[in-house]
Amino acid sequence: MTKSTPLFNRLALIGTGLIGSSIARAARAQGAVHEIVATARSAATRRRVAELGLADQVVETNAAAVAGADLVIVCVPVGACGAVAEEIGPHLSRSATVSDVGSVKGAVLRDMAPHLPSGVHFVPAHPVAGTENSGPDAGFAELFVGRWCILTPPENADSAAVERLAAFWRALGANVEAMPAAHHDLVLAITSHLPHLIAYTIVGTADELAEVTRSEVLKFSAGGFRDFTRIAASDPTMWRDVFLTNKDAVLEMLGTFNEDLAKLTRAIRRGDGDALFEHFARTRAIRRGIVQIGQDSSAPDFGRTHPSLPAEPLPRPYAVSEEN
Ligand code: NAP
Repeated sequence: MTKSTPLFNRLALIGTGLIGSSIARAARAQGAVHEIVATARSAATRRRVAELGLADQVVETNAAAVAGADLVIVCVPVGACGAVAEEIGPHLSRSATVSDVGSVKGAVLRDMAPHLPSGVHFVPAHPVAGTENSGPDAGFAELFVGRWCILTPPENADSAAVERLAAFWRALGANVEAMPAAHHDLVLAITSHLPHLIAYTIVGTADELAEVTRSEVLKFSAGGFRDFTRIAASDPTMWRDVFLTNKDAVLEMLGTFNEDLAKLTRAIRRGDGDALFEHFARTRAIRRGIVQIGQDSSAPDFGRTHPSLPAEPLPRPYAVSEEN
């Protein structure tokens, strides 16, 4: 990617964990802003952000961070967004753009909008990109490359402000789409929130059986379980907030999921191989579609490297040729 001309003068990041620190790294690498001011809740995180040199200034309070900023991005758990908005509201510059990165959008709109003064452009956003790691050390500049960033502007949003924020995310390498917050929450309930709930359940269930099976669970974890353990290692605060704030959409999807699970359970009980085969063939086609549109790779995931590191060849016994 070539460097862009700065789209904003001063970016204020409130919260500098995985997502906030990745924005800082990417915005700087791409020259998307002139200056970055960052803050975090704890002194320990602020100190680490300063040590890593992620921002031009690291300040102690949210109010100090937003002073003079023309773009403010709130990168804290969804349940904390309302309190942050209340705190920064009186200190925002007139005509600043305020955004967030929360995984749920209806609750963010509801909790933040009432605290933002008129003249400020509020454009919530959700970069659909992440890992199971947290904190400023976990971020990397390439996190958003080729991933989607969904904007959920309120109906009366200023279209120029929305387009400017879209340009910012495109500069960080993301593809951008806009949709109503309620639609976002329904789509993400099935594509992200429910899979996390299932992973949390399965890993918890296996743990309850651990007395009997501990060695087998670990030894044979490559058989699907390992992928669940990675997802189930995601940040507990973030995911608690996601389920509390996207309750209705998750419960709706969970109802449909339970009906489908009951159908598969019945097929297994009745020995209905045709029903099982037809279902698995349909889901295989969905997976292949995801690979085709470039949202994942068909490469085996063992030996995968951090995107910012040069790829290591797979160890010999596991090497898979291009044709496979
Ligand atoms: P993270 O690595 O845990 O960082 C969270 C940041 O928020 C830290 O700087 C933390 O400060 C601060 N914070 C935590 N609780 C706070 C509170 N009550 N008030 C003020 N600040 C608080 O989390 P993250 O993964 O970057 O997630 C941040 C947001 O991005 C969440 O809304 C999440 O839904 C969204 N998101 C996450 C992912 C993902 O895969 N992780 C993907 C897309 C979107 P301290 O370090 O000082 O505690």
